[in-house]
Amino acid sequence: AKESHRNQYEFFTPTMSVQASERHTIEQELRKAVERNELLLMYQPQLQFETGQITGVEALVRWLHPKRGLVSPTEFIPLAEETGIIIPLGEWVLRTACQQNKAWQDAGFAPMRVAVNLSAYQFKQANIVQVVADILHETGLHPAYLELEITESVAMQNAKQVIGTLEELKKLGIQVSIDDFGTGYSSLSYLRSFPIDRLKIDRSFVNDITSTQGETTIAASIIAMAQSLNLEVIAEGVETEVQFEFLKNKGCHEMQGYFFSKPLLKEDMTGRLASIQGV
Ligand code: C2E
Ligand code: CA
Ligand code: CA
Ligand code: CA
Repeated sequence: AKESHRNQYEFFTPTMSVQASERHTIEQELRKAVERNELLLMYQPQLQFETGQITGVEALVRWLHPKRGLVSPTEFIPLAEETGIIIPLGEWVLRTACQQNKAWQDAGFAPMRVAVNLSAYQFKQANIVQVVADILHETGLHPAYLELEITESVAMQNAKQVIGTLEELKKLGIQVSIDDFGTGYSSLSYLRSFPIDRLKIDRSFVNDITSTQGETTIAASIIAMAQSLNLEVIAEGVETEVQFEFLKNKGCHEMQGYFFSKPLLKEDMTGRLASIQGV
């Protein structure tokens, strides 16, 4: 048991050539995880450079497995997508994130966005706009405080269809950001036609920022590009002061990363807000 606990992440790796029966077990467990309340969200704050205020949080899902402990989303989101479990799981994430954000507002904290990751599979569902509308209605969260993150790879798939869905989502009044930006090589002219609010610079480009004089052109050019398109820009994975200062000086609007805060349990996030805002 000790051994399997230590190797909790390996349990799910495809390279291990997991037996069909074993895979079936994990699939069954994941299917039940939602109803058994084994999923939880962590929240990572997003900081605005100009004001130093927390303007948003990204909701990040974890699976608290009864035997294996806390399992990373990178270990079960791919399986959830392959099996369609991502649909109920994704709805749970969306509902919980909206509920929590509404609860923070009701408790008197300054309104902020909650960003929710939307997988490709979810985004392609014919009823996705209705699902989002229903959850907003049900939780009472003002749409302006929900942001959906779709990856650049999703955005690059079927432009016409993607733009159509995004336009419908934007009509609800929510915000949309392009996650992991810079990894898909989409062009400026391509993005111009997308009804989006924000680009999220991929961690790999932030990681490249090692000194203020270094080879830092990609992050800088994404910021310049976002500005020319009138888009907000946020950097993810900011870990060092050098990265923080560089991004700030280049005019990046917001940052998210260990330098400011790791993802927090909701109680810790509440505590953080309380200590800053004195509510
Ligand atoms: P992502 O959307 O790119 O999320 C950012 C990841 O970077 C998170 O990992 C976060 O904990 C981590 N991170 C944040 N700041 C730093 C930093 O300064 N340094 C480093 N090294 N890492 C940092 P996490 O929570 O393990 O999530 C991994 C991926 O799983 C996410 O990548 C996202 O693609 C996916 N994911 C997480 N939650 C959900 C969800 O609810 N739905 C879907 N569809 N995917 C999710
Ligand atoms: Ca994300
Ligand atoms: Ca990302
Ligand atoms: Ca990333």
